[in-house]
Amino acid sequence: MAMDTQTHFGLSQELLDAIQAFPVTRRVEHCGEKFTTSPLDVYATCPRCGVQIKVRAFSATAEIEDVIDAVLLWLNQPEAEELARRRQLVLAGDD
Ligand SMILES: [Zn+2]
Repeated sequence: MAMDTQTHFGLSQELLDAIQAFPVTRRVEHCGEKFTTSPLDVYATCPRCGVQIKVRAFSATAEIEDVIDAVLLWLNQPEAEELARRRQLVLAGDD
């Protein structure tokens, strides 16, 4: 079978499991106040003092948030949204 895209990068099952288990909120604490924000947001605003806090670490090593960002960028293609929706239905039926 000929394929025109490289699909094997040595991704680990551990990474796939971590993405599936990735929380949809990030807990942040500032001024002794605990609040939640999107785990994909780079900054959050403290509800008590109004200061903007950097909540994502941008390091040389890619993190799960970076993987999700890459998938979201892929989804920005007009055709990709429909493909994703169809695949989500298939995956939902696999439960
Ligand atoms: Zn604060």
